[in-house]
Amino acid sequence: MNRDFLSIVTKLNESKHILVVGHIMPDGDDISSVLSAKIGLERLGKEVLAGIDWRIPWYFYEFEEVNQIMTFEQIKESGFKPEVLLILDASSLDRIGRFQEYFETTNVFVVDHHATNTLFGDHNWVDTKFGSTAQMVMRINNELGVPYDENLATLNLMGIATDTGFFKYSNADETVFSDATKLVSLGGKVYLVSRIFENKRIEQFKLLSIMIDHLKLEFDNKIAYSFLSKADYENNNCSEDDSGGFVGELRSLKGVELAIFLSEYVTDEVHISFRSKDWFDCSKLATILGGGGHQRAAGCSLKGDLHVIVEEVIREAKTLFLTSSRSSVNLAE
Ligand code: 5GP
Ligand code: MN
Repeated sequence: MNRDFLSIVTKLNESKHILVVGHIMPDGDDISSVLSAKIGLERLGKEVLAGIDWRIPWYFYEFEEVNQIMTFEQIKESGFKPEVLLILDASSLDRIGRFQEYFETTNVFVVDHHATNTLFGDHNWVDTKFGSTAQMVMRINNELGVPYDENLATLNLMGIATDTGFFKYSNADETVFSDATKLVSLGGKVYLVSRIFENKRIEQFKLLSIMIDHLKLEFDNKIAYSFLSKADYENNNCSEDDSGGFVGELRSLKGVELAIFLSEYVTDEVHISFRSKDWFDCSKLATILGGGGHQRAAGCSLKGDLHVIVEEVIREAKTLFLTSSRSSVNLAE
């Protein structure tokens, strides 16, 4: 058994007041992990608050438990004094936003599956073998003896399903399937999770068509990229939440190895998502640009003019693409 896993479980068991936090720009795995840990620890009689210092995309509110996730302001105002800060799915301290304020006064436990994790906690259980952080939370809950019902099983399943692209990505290994099977046998419902993403507003279709209008291909169609400006969102009554999954559409093009989607979520602030199909290391590119992530999915945020950032990022991507061995072979074909 992993030493950090055991110390985290032992210390959680001994603690009474726990603050569970996720990362900024939360995704399904993060929200699932935060809620599964919060609800699990509460079932053991602990006082637990959960926080994410970012707006949660509207479609996750299909699960009413998402309302339990508090803002930074709400947690501050509550006067809650946690002994433990349990940080989930965040690869570095800056990823938790203003919750960094609790860093000095608490025992900090980090549970994550990103290779780019900087091991910034007092105890760090970081294991890149897991397809999702939700599976790591499931192990913590199991070790602590948390009882599962349909709700908790479905929430926990959400992280596994979303981080593996609904069991399609290369991280969908045997453990992913056996963990999912276990949750399904406890009452977890994959169809309830998938419904979150099959609940689109018509404005999102329009936004997708604009993203497709902006699409450009490079290197014999091996790199696909596109962007949306703040104005594109506003003119279509959308926010950045509405473009979730667009980068996956770019990657789905035949022949594309690297897909890049740049999203100006606040004027002059751009989030960039990278996705690759077979060999390109997205985490390497994201790290060069100040972000992080996994080999097949990574991201970063940059400040400045959108069009300047598009140029810079594509230049950096092309350079790394050319110097990565497989591409030189491919391009020489
Ligand atoms: P997405 O493109 O969906 O925002 O993120 C893809 C992956 O990269 C996720 O695992 C996410 O946590 C990670 N990621 C995205 N943006 C950043 C960033 O700015 N810094 C770090 N360290 N990781 C990021
Ligand atoms: Mn994750």
